[in-house]
Amino acid sequence: MSRFRVFLLTLCLTTLACMSEVVALAPTSMPVMDATLATMLAATSTSTTTPTLAPTLTPTPAPLARRVLILSIDGLRPDAIPLAPMPNLTSLMQNSAYSLSAQTIHPSATLPAHVSMLSGQCPSKHGVNWNDYLPENGYAQVIDLFDIAHAAGLQTVMYVGKEKLQQITEPSSVDIFHYINDRDLVITETLIQDFPEDFGLMFVHFPTADWMGHVYGWLSGEQLSVLFRADQAIANLLSELDARGLRDETLIIITSDHGGHGNIHGSSQYEDMTIPWIAAGPGIQPAALSTQITTIDTAATAAYALNLPIPLEWDGMPVYEAFGILEDGPIRNHCKN
Ligand SMILES: [Zn+2]
Repeated sequence: MSRFRVFLLTLCLTTLACMSEVVALAPTSMPVMDATLATMLAATSTSTTTPTLAPTLTPTPAPLARRVLILSIDGLRPDAIPLAPMPNLTSLMQNSAYSLSAQTIHPSATLPAHVSMLSGQCPSKHGVNWNDYLPENGYAQVIDLFDIAHAAGLQTVMYVGKEKLQQITEPSSVDIFHYINDRDLVITETLIQDFPEDFGLMFVHFPTADWMGHVYGWLSGEQLSVLFRADQAIANLLSELDARGLRDETLIIITSDHGGHGNIHGSSQYEDMTIPWIAAGPGIQPAALSTQITTIDTAATAAYALNLPIPLEWDGMPVYEAFGILEDGPIRNHCKN
């Protein structure tokens, strides 16, 4: 037998062996990867006939959560939580995956940071470099969490305590929008009075701690006292979810846009950049997280839980560790460049 014929026979036997292995391993509904593998194997076969692939079925995985609620407590430094104190938030953390050393973006300012939080993109990409309500600037011109949730047919809701936050996304992506120029407890009370129980994505913003920080200083008694009230507002919000039977299907993420020092924030120093990131709800494995989370990961985590496709241009990644999934050293984007 010539060397060439031995080669051909060996190739044929190897290919057949591989093919039978694929068939033996194939589940009833063959996932796409197996079909791709079969196609690759068929391409290496010496046969000239077109291979017939088994029909493929790619089941859409069920979302981990039917709803996501993101609460941003404006200006909340993690070290203020035990000082205020915030017993309801602390209690929630017992059943949460959380980090008290998550980072916001630079500039650590309210509007750019919230756009990063909810668009999954660094400031260099979303371009919102202003921090006032400037209607002439329009809306952040990037695909954000509200855009993709609304496009997927989810009801989208925003209750915010600062007017400029309406520039985060286009009005067409928000089904229910309320700007309430008042304290956190009043914002929550207004929300509860007309609670949108069909929501798929809800963003709630508490402004009071930031206001008090600018007037009296970060970690001042005045700021801590309003954080104690924000904690009561959190309890009221959670009770409402419980009363409506929505708690078990809602991923809750409680975080902030920035910290602060003295009477200001906006710099790249640790006290301004460090924020809490607390996730509770379906699929969450309670733990103190070791992942170095950046605020851009919030949108991606919400999209992941809702089983929404994450746009390729997003810089953030889901916080997989929060769902008990170990990361094999992915390089996370921290918006440093
Ligand atoms: Zn702020």
